[in-house]
Amino acid sequence: MTIRKQHHRILLLLLLAAIIVWPQAAPAIGAAGPGQQEPMTVVVCVLDGCPDHSLDYLPETTYLRRLSVDENSQHKTIEAVFPSSTAAGHGAIFTGTYPDENGITGKEYLGDDGELVRFNTPDTTEVPTLFHIARSAGYGTAMISAKANVCRRLSGATDFAIWSDSVPDWVIASVGPAPDEATQYDNYAGWHIELDQWVLRTVEAYLEYTDAPAFVGINLGSPDTCGHRFGPVPAVETTDALCAISDGLEKLVETLEATRPGRWSLIITADHGMTRVYTGITARDIIDDITDKDVPMTLDGGALYVWADDEDRGKIADALRQTEGVAEVIDIDDKARREELHIEHPRTPSLIAISERGYMFIEALLFMDYTLGSHGTLLNTDLEVPLIVVGPKADAINLENVNSITEIRSVVEMLFDI
Ligand SMILES: [Zn+2]
Repeated sequence: MTIRKQHHRILLLLLLAAIIVWPQAAPAIGAAGPGQQEPMTVVVCVLDGCPDHSLDYLPETTYLRRLSVDENSQHKTIEAVFPSSTAAGHGAIFTGTYPDENGITGKEYLGDDGELVRFNTPDTTEVPTLFHIARSAGYGTAMISAKANVCRRLSGATDFAIWSDSVPDWVIASVGPAPDEATQYDNYAGWHIELDQWVLRTVEAYLEYTDAPAFVGINLGSPDTCGHRFGPVPAVETTDALCAISDGLEKLVETLEATRPGRWSLIITADHGMTRVYTGITARDIIDDITDKDVPMTLDGGALYVWADDEDRGKIADALRQTEGVAEVIDIDDKARREELHIEHPRTPSLIAISERGYMFIEALLFMDYTLGSHGTLLNTDLEVPLIVVGPKADAINLENVNSITEIRSVVEMLFDI
Protein backbone atom coordinates (compact mmCIF):
# COMPACT_ATOMS: atom_id res chain seq x y z
CA MET A 1 0.00 0.00 0.00
CA THR A 2 1.28 3.45 -0.86
CA ILE A 3 1.83 5.99 1.87
CA ARG A 4 -0.95 8.12 0.40
CA LYS A 5 -3.49 5.26 0.56
CA GLN A 6 -2.43 4.45 4.10
CA HIS A 7 -2.94 8.10 4.95
CA HIS A 8 -6.49 8.03 3.57
CA ARG A 9 -7.29 4.87 5.48
CA ILE A 10 -6.05 6.39 8.75
CA LEU A 11 -8.11 9.53 8.14
CA LEU A 12 -11.21 7.43 7.48
CA LEU A 13 -10.65 5.43 10.66
CA LEU A 14 -10.18 8.64 12.66
CA LEU A 15 -13.42 10.03 11.23
CA LEU A 16 -15.30 6.84 12.12
CA ALA A 17 -13.81 6.89 15.62
CA ALA A 18 -14.88 10.50 16.08
CA ILE A 19 -18.47 9.69 15.07
CA ILE A 20 -18.59 6.67 17.40
CA VAL A 21 -16.96 8.40 20.40
CA TRP A 22 -19.02 11.59 20.09
CA PRO A 23 -22.53 10.35 19.41
CA GLN A 24 -24.54 13.12 21.11
CA ALA A 25 -22.84 15.81 19.05
CA ALA A 26 -24.11 14.86 15.63
CA PRO A 27 -27.92 15.13 15.98
CA ALA A 28 -28.07 18.18 18.25
CA ILE A 29 -25.94 20.53 16.21
CA GLY A 30 -26.36 19.16 12.71
CA ALA A 31 -27.30 21.53 9.90
CA ALA A 32 -30.33 23.58 10.83
CA GLY A 33 -33.55 22.30 9.22
CA PRO A 34 -36.34 24.49 7.86
CA GLY A 35 -37.54 26.96 10.49
CA GLN A 36 -34.70 26.02 12.82
CA GLN A 37 -32.10 28.48 14.03
CA GLU A 38 -28.46 28.07 13.08
CA PRO A 39 -26.60 26.84 16.17
CA MET A 40 -25.12 29.68 18.21
CA THR A 41 -21.81 30.21 19.94
CA VAL A 42 -22.25 31.83 23.35
CA VAL A 43 -19.37 33.42 25.25
CA VAL A 44 -19.76 34.42 28.92
CA CYS A 45 -17.01 36.84 29.96
CA VAL A 46 -16.56 37.50 33.69
CA LEU A 47 -14.83 40.79 34.53
CA ASP A 48 -13.47 39.71 37.90
CA GLY A 49 -14.32 42.24 40.61
CA CYS A 50 -15.95 44.86 38.37
CA PRO A 51 -18.81 46.87 39.93
CA ASP A 52 -21.42 48.05 37.44
CA HIS A 53 -20.81 51.72 38.25
CA SER A 54 -17.12 51.37 37.24
CA LEU A 55 -18.22 51.38 33.60
CA ASP A 56 -19.68 54.91 34.03
CA TYR A 57 -16.17 56.28 34.69
CA LEU A 58 -14.67 54.97 31.44
CA PRO A 59 -14.16 57.42 28.57
CA GLU A 60 -17.27 57.61 26.36
CA THR A 61 -15.27 56.36 23.39
CA THR A 62 -14.41 52.99 25.00
CA TYR A 63 -16.16 49.93 23.60
CA LEU A 64 -17.72 49.01 26.97
CA ARG A 65 -19.31 52.49 27.17
CA ARG A 66 -20.41 52.48 23.53
CA LEU A 67 -22.16 49.13 24.13
CA SER A 68 -24.60 50.86 26.52
CA VAL A 69 -26.09 52.80 23.62
CA ASP A 70 -25.53 50.27 20.81
CA GLU A 71 -28.70 48.82 19.31
CA ASN A 72 -27.07 45.37 19.09
CA SER A 73 -26.62 45.17 22.84
CA GLN A 74 -28.48 45.44 26.14
CA HIS A 75 -27.05 46.62 29.46
CA LYS A 76 -28.60 46.10 32.88
CA THR A 77 -27.45 46.21 36.51
CA ILE A 78 -27.86 42.85 38.27
CA GLU A 79 -26.91 41.45 41.70
CA ALA A 80 -24.08 39.12 42.65
CA VAL A 81 -24.58 36.55 45.43
CA PHE A 82 -23.33 36.47 49.03
CA PRO A 83 -20.47 36.16 49.75
CA SER A 84 -19.63 38.64 46.98
CA SER A 85 -16.36 36.91 46.14
CA THR A 86 -14.76 34.96 43.31
CA ALA A 87 -15.60 31.31 43.98
CA ALA A 88 -19.24 31.89 44.95
CA GLY A 89 -19.72 34.36 42.08
CA HIS A 90 -18.40 32.02 39.39
CA GLY A 91 -20.33 29.10 40.94
CA ALA A 92 -23.54 31.14 40.68
CA ILE A 93 -22.90 32.40 37.13
CA PHE A 94 -21.90 29.05 35.66
CA THR A 95 -24.53 26.88 37.41
CA GLY A 96 -27.46 29.28 37.64
CA THR A 97 -27.88 28.46 41.35
CA TYR A 98 -27.06 30.03 44.73
CA PRO A 99 -24.36 28.72 47.11
CA ASP A 100 -26.89 26.74 49.21
CA GLU A 101 -27.65 24.66 46.11
CA ASN A 102 -24.32 24.46 44.26
CA GLY A 103 -22.12 24.05 47.37
CA ILE A 104 -19.63 26.81 46.48
CA THR A 105 -20.19 28.65 49.74
CA GLY A 106 -17.12 30.90 49.87
CA LYS A 107 -13.37 30.89 49.46
CA GLU A 108 -12.73 27.76 51.57
CA TYR A 109 -14.56 25.04 53.49
CA LEU A 110 -13.59 22.78 56.36
CA GLY A 111 -12.54 19.34 55.10
CA ASP A 112 -13.31 16.10 56.97
CA ASP A 113 -9.76 16.15 58.37
CA GLY A 114 -10.33 19.56 59.99
CA GLU A 115 -8.14 21.40 57.47
CA LEU A 116 -9.41 24.28 55.33
CA VAL A 117 -9.76 23.39 51.66
CA ARG A 118 -10.00 25.69 48.63
CA PHE A 119 -12.72 25.11 46.06
CA ASN A 120 -10.34 24.17 43.25
CA THR A 121 -11.63 20.90 41.83
CA PRO A 122 -14.75 20.34 39.69
CA ASP A 123 -16.25 17.82 42.16
CA THR A 124 -16.80 20.58 44.76
CA THR A 125 -19.65 21.90 42.57
CA GLU A 126 -22.74 19.89 43.49
CA VAL A 127 -24.90 20.67 40.44
CA PRO A 128 -24.21 20.55 36.68
CA THR A 129 -22.54 23.61 35.14
CA LEU A 130 -23.42 25.38 31.89
CA PHE A 131 -20.48 23.48 30.40
CA HIS A 132 -22.25 20.16 31.21
CA ILE A 133 -25.52 21.48 29.75
CA ALA A 134 -23.83 22.81 26.58
CA ARG A 135 -21.81 19.62 26.11
CA SER A 136 -24.84 17.34 26.38
CA ALA A 137 -26.60 19.52 23.78
CA GLY A 138 -23.63 18.87 21.48
CA TYR A 139 -21.72 22.13 21.77
CA GLY A 140 -17.97 22.50 22.11
CA THR A 141 -16.92 23.81 25.55
CA ALA A 142 -13.96 25.86 26.72
CA MET A 143 -13.06 27.80 29.87
CA ILE A 144 -10.17 30.25 29.44
CA SER A 145 -9.11 32.05 32.60
CA ALA A 146 -6.63 34.46 34.13
CA LYS A 147 -7.18 32.70 37.48
CA ALA A 148 -6.08 29.07 37.79
CA ASN A 149 -8.50 28.03 40.55
CA VAL A 150 -11.52 29.41 38.70
CA CYS A 151 -10.52 27.33 35.69
CA ARG A 152 -9.77 24.14 37.63
CA ARG A 153 -13.14 24.33 39.38
CA LEU A 154 -15.04 24.74 36.10
CA SER A 155 -13.09 22.12 34.13
CA GLY A 156 -15.57 19.27 34.77
CA ALA A 157 -17.12 19.29 31.29
CA THR A 158 -14.79 21.37 29.16
CA ASP A 159 -13.02 20.32 25.95
CA PHE A 160 -10.37 22.88 26.89
CA ALA A 161 -9.66 24.40 30.33
CA ILE A 162 -6.87 26.91 29.70
CA TRP A 163 -4.93 29.02 32.19
CA SER A 164 -1.33 30.24 32.24
CA ASP A 165 0.11 26.88 33.44
CA SER A 166 -2.11 24.70 31.28
CA VAL A 167 -1.84 25.75 27.66
CA PRO A 168 -2.45 23.49 24.63
CA ASP A 169 0.20 23.45 21.88
CA TRP A 170 -2.10 25.13 19.34
CA VAL A 171 -2.41 28.13 21.70
CA ILE A 172 1.38 28.31 22.13
CA ALA A 173 1.73 28.13 18.34
CA SER A 174 -0.70 30.98 17.60
CA VAL A 175 -0.63 33.19 20.72
CA GLY A 176 2.54 32.17 22.57
CA PRO A 177 2.87 31.46 26.30
CA ALA A 178 1.21 33.53 29.04
CA PRO A 179 3.27 36.34 30.62
CA ASP A 180 6.01 34.99 32.91
CA GLU A 181 4.78 34.89 36.53
CA ALA A 182 8.30 35.63 37.81
CA THR A 183 8.00 39.16 36.38
CA GLN A 184 4.58 40.06 37.82
CA TYR A 185 5.86 42.35 40.58
CA ASP A 186 8.08 44.46 38.28
CA ASN A 187 4.97 46.20 36.96
CA TYR A 188 1.99 44.79 38.83
CA ALA A 189 -0.86 46.46 36.91
CA GLY A 190 0.88 46.07 33.54
CA TRP A 191 1.51 42.36 34.11
CA HIS A 192 -2.13 41.62 35.02
CA ILE A 193 -3.38 43.72 32.09
CA GLU A 194 -1.06 41.75 29.78
CA LEU A 195 -2.31 38.44 31.22
CA ASP A 196 -5.92 39.40 30.38
CA GLN A 197 -4.87 40.37 26.84
CA TRP A 198 -3.30 36.90 26.52
CA VAL A 199 -6.55 35.32 27.75
CA LEU A 200 -8.59 37.26 25.17
CA ARG A 201 -6.18 36.41 22.34
CA THR A 202 -6.42 32.75 23.42
CA VAL A 203 -10.22 32.93 23.16
CA GLU A 204 -9.83 34.28 19.62
CA ALA A 205 -7.41 31.45 18.84
CA TYR A 206 -10.01 28.94 20.08
CA LEU A 207 -12.70 30.50 17.88
CA GLU A 208 -10.37 30.20 14.90
CA TYR A 209 -9.20 26.68 15.89
CA THR A 210 -12.73 25.28 15.68
CA ASP A 211 -15.70 26.66 13.81
CA ALA A 212 -18.09 24.41 15.75
CA PRO A 213 -20.83 26.07 17.82
CA ALA A 214 -19.55 26.38 21.36
CA PHE A 215 -20.05 27.60 24.90
CA VAL A 216 -17.02 29.54 26.11
CA GLY A 217 -16.38 30.90 29.61
CA ILE A 218 -13.80 33.63 30.24
CA ASN A 219 -12.35 35.06 33.45
CA LEU A 220 -10.43 38.35 33.21
CA GLY A 221 -8.59 39.01 36.48
CA SER A 222 -7.10 42.51 36.18
CA PRO A 223 -10.11 44.56 37.45
CA ASP A 224 -9.88 42.46 40.63
CA THR A 225 -6.11 42.32 41.11
CA CYS A 226 -5.69 46.03 40.29
CA GLY A 227 -8.82 46.90 42.32
CA HIS A 228 -7.40 45.22 45.45
CA ARG A 229 -4.01 46.84 45.09
CA PHE A 230 -4.88 50.34 43.79
CA GLY A 231 -8.59 50.62 44.64
CA PRO A 232 -11.64 50.38 42.40
CA VAL A 233 -12.23 52.64 39.37
CA PRO A 234 -11.56 55.61 39.12
CA ALA A 235 -8.11 54.52 40.41
CA VAL A 236 -5.83 55.02 37.39
CA GLU A 237 -4.41 51.48 37.17
CA THR A 238 -7.83 49.82 37.51
CA THR A 239 -9.31 52.19 34.92
CA ASP A 240 -6.41 51.34 32.57
CA ALA A 241 -7.15 47.63 33.10
CA LEU A 242 -10.81 48.07 32.13
CA CYS A 243 -9.91 50.20 29.09
CA ALA A 244 -7.47 47.51 27.89
CA ILE A 245 -10.15 44.83 28.41
CA SER A 246 -12.60 47.01 26.51
CA ASP A 247 -10.23 47.15 23.49
CA GLY A 248 -9.65 43.38 23.71
CA LEU A 249 -13.39 42.66 23.82
CA GLU A 250 -13.96 44.79 20.71
CA LYS A 251 -11.40 42.65 18.86
CA LEU A 252 -13.00 39.46 20.23
CA VAL A 253 -16.36 40.55 18.83
CA GLU A 254 -14.76 41.10 15.41
CA THR A 255 -13.38 37.53 15.56
CA LEU A 256 -16.78 36.14 16.61
CA GLU A 257 -18.45 37.82 13.63
CA ALA A 258 -15.64 36.74 11.26
CA THR A 259 -15.74 33.08 12.34
CA ARG A 260 -19.53 32.75 12.96
CA PRO A 261 -21.32 35.54 11.08
CA GLY A 262 -24.66 36.28 12.76
CA ARG A 263 -24.42 33.22 15.01
CA TRP A 264 -22.82 34.40 18.22
CA SER A 265 -23.56 36.15 21.49
CA LEU A 266 -21.28 37.67 24.08
CA ILE A 267 -22.47 38.09 27.68
CA ILE A 268 -20.32 40.39 29.84
CA THR A 269 -20.79 40.31 33.59
CA ALA A 270 -18.85 40.19 36.89
CA ASP A 271 -18.58 37.75 39.78
CA HIS A 272 -18.70 40.60 42.34
CA GLY A 273 -17.87 44.30 42.66
CA MET A 274 -15.14 46.14 44.57
CA THR A 275 -15.27 48.71 47.38
CA ARG A 276 -12.62 51.22 48.52
CA VAL A 277 -11.28 50.24 51.97
CA TYR A 278 -9.32 52.23 54.53
CA THR A 279 -9.24 50.16 57.73
CA GLY A 280 -8.31 46.56 58.46
CA ILE A 281 -9.93 44.39 61.16
CA THR A 282 -7.41 41.83 62.45
CA ALA A 283 -9.98 39.14 63.18
CA ARG A 284 -7.44 36.52 64.22
CA ASP A 285 -6.19 38.72 67.07
CA ILE A 286 -9.76 39.21 68.33
CA ILE A 287 -10.39 35.46 68.41
CA ASP A 288 -6.97 34.63 69.92
CA ASP A 289 -7.90 36.86 72.87
CA ILE A 290 -10.93 34.64 73.56
CA THR A 291 -9.59 31.11 73.14
CA ASP A 292 -6.28 29.23 72.95
CA LYS A 293 -7.78 26.88 70.37
CA ASP A 294 -6.69 27.15 66.75
CA VAL A 295 -10.11 28.15 65.40
CA PRO A 296 -10.33 27.62 61.61
CA MET A 297 -11.23 30.85 59.85
CA THR A 298 -11.23 32.35 56.36
CA LEU A 299 -10.63 36.06 55.92
CA ASP A 300 -12.28 36.89 52.63
CA GLY A 301 -12.19 40.70 52.46
CA GLY A 302 -15.55 41.91 53.73
CA ALA A 303 -16.67 38.46 54.83
CA LEU A 304 -15.17 36.54 57.76
CA TYR A 305 -15.92 32.81 58.07
CA VAL A 306 -15.30 31.26 61.51
CA TRP A 307 -15.73 27.57 62.29
CA ALA A 308 -16.22 28.14 66.04
CA ASP A 309 -17.32 25.26 68.29
CA ASP A 310 -20.36 25.50 70.57
CA GLU A 311 -18.22 26.42 73.58
CA ASP A 312 -16.63 29.52 72.01
CA ARG A 313 -19.24 30.56 69.47
CA GLY A 314 -21.26 32.94 71.66
CA LYS A 315 -18.17 34.67 73.05
CA ILE A 316 -16.60 35.11 69.60
CA ALA A 317 -19.88 36.42 68.15
CA ASP A 318 -20.19 38.98 71.00
CA ALA A 319 -16.60 40.16 70.54
CA LEU A 320 -17.07 40.56 66.78
CA ARG A 321 -20.35 42.45 67.28
CA GLN A 322 -18.52 44.93 69.53
CA THR A 323 -15.69 45.42 67.03
CA GLU A 324 -15.54 48.70 65.13
CA GLY A 325 -16.28 48.18 61.45
CA VAL A 326 -18.34 44.98 61.84
CA ALA A 327 -21.82 45.44 60.33
CA GLU A 328 -23.38 42.06 61.08
CA VAL A 329 -22.63 38.68 62.69
CA ILE A 330 -24.69 35.70 61.53
CA ASP A 331 -24.86 32.72 63.88
CA ILE A 332 -25.63 29.16 62.74
CA ASP A 333 -28.91 29.32 64.71
CA ASP A 334 -30.11 32.27 62.64
CA LYS A 335 -31.62 29.99 60.00
CA ALA A 336 -33.89 32.69 58.57
CA ARG A 337 -30.99 35.03 57.76
CA ARG A 338 -28.89 32.18 56.35
CA GLU A 339 -31.78 31.12 54.11
CA GLU A 340 -32.41 34.71 53.02
CA LEU A 341 -28.77 34.95 51.91
CA HIS A 342 -28.95 31.48 50.25
CA ILE A 343 -26.02 30.17 52.30
CA GLU A 344 -27.69 27.46 54.43
CA HIS A 345 -25.36 24.56 53.57
CA PRO A 346 -23.21 22.09 55.60
CA ARG A 347 -20.05 23.84 54.29
CA THR A 348 -21.13 27.23 55.66
CA PRO A 349 -19.40 27.87 59.01
CA SER A 350 -21.11 28.43 62.35
CA LEU A 351 -20.27 32.14 62.36
CA ILE A 352 -20.06 34.74 59.61
CA ALA A 353 -19.16 38.39 60.14
CA ILE A 354 -19.67 41.07 57.49
CA SER A 355 -17.77 44.36 57.51
CA GLU A 356 -19.07 47.91 57.16
CA ARG A 357 -18.16 50.15 54.23
CA GLY A 358 -14.47 51.10 54.34
CA TYR A 359 -13.42 48.11 56.47
CA MET A 360 -12.14 44.63 55.67
CA PHE A 361 -10.92 41.57 57.55
CA ILE A 362 -7.16 41.16 57.21
CA GLU A 363 -4.37 38.97 58.66
CA ALA A 364 -2.14 41.91 59.67
CA LEU A 365 -2.56 45.71 59.53
CA LEU A 366 0.71 45.89 57.59
CA PHE A 367 -1.09 44.47 54.54
CA MET A 368 -3.38 47.52 54.44
CA ASP A 369 -0.41 49.45 52.98
CA TYR A 370 -0.90 47.41 49.80
CA THR A 371 -4.68 47.02 49.87
CA LEU A 372 -7.07 49.75 48.76
CA GLY A 373 -9.98 47.64 47.54
CA SER A 374 -11.98 44.74 48.91
CA HIS A 375 -15.27 42.84 48.40
CA GLY A 376 -17.34 40.13 50.04
CA THR A 377 -20.03 42.22 51.77
CA LEU A 378 -23.67 43.08 50.98
CA LEU A 379 -22.82 46.69 50.05
CA ASN A 380 -24.13 47.86 46.67
CA THR A 381 -20.57 48.44 45.42
CA ASP A 382 -19.80 44.75 46.10
CA LEU A 383 -23.14 43.37 44.87
CA GLU A 384 -24.16 45.43 41.83
CA VAL A 385 -22.54 44.09 38.68
CA PRO A 386 -23.11 44.63 34.95
CA LEU A 387 -24.98 42.38 32.59
CA ILE A 388 -24.27 43.26 28.97
CA VAL A 389 -25.60 41.07 26.18
CA VAL A 390 -23.96 41.72 22.80
CA GLY A 391 -24.53 40.22 19.40
CA PRO A 392 -26.86 39.94 16.40
CA LYS A 393 -29.62 38.35 18.55
CA ALA A 394 -29.03 40.45 21.70
CA ASP A 395 -32.00 42.77 21.32
CA ALA A 396 -34.41 39.81 21.02
CA ILE A 397 -33.58 38.57 24.54
CA ASN A 398 -35.99 39.60 27.30
CA LEU A 399 -33.96 40.58 30.38
CA GLU A 400 -36.95 41.75 32.44
CA ASN A 401 -36.74 38.80 34.85
CA VAL A 402 -32.95 38.64 34.93
CA ASN A 403 -31.93 40.40 38.14
CA SER A 404 -29.24 38.15 39.60
CA ILE A 405 -26.09 36.51 38.26
CA THR A 406 -27.86 33.18 38.93
CA GLU A 407 -30.27 34.07 36.10
CA ILE A 408 -27.53 34.43 33.45
CA ARG A 409 -27.99 30.70 32.87
CA SER A 410 -31.53 31.39 31.56
CA VAL A 411 -30.09 33.93 29.09
CA VAL A 412 -27.56 31.36 27.83
CA GLU A 413 -30.32 28.77 27.46
CA MET A 414 -32.51 31.27 25.57
CA LEU A 415 -29.62 32.04 23.20
CA PHE A 416 -28.88 28.36 22.66
CA ASP A 417 -32.58 27.60 22.45
CA ILE A 418 -32.12 24.59 24.79
ZN1 LIG B 1 -13.50 37.69 41.84
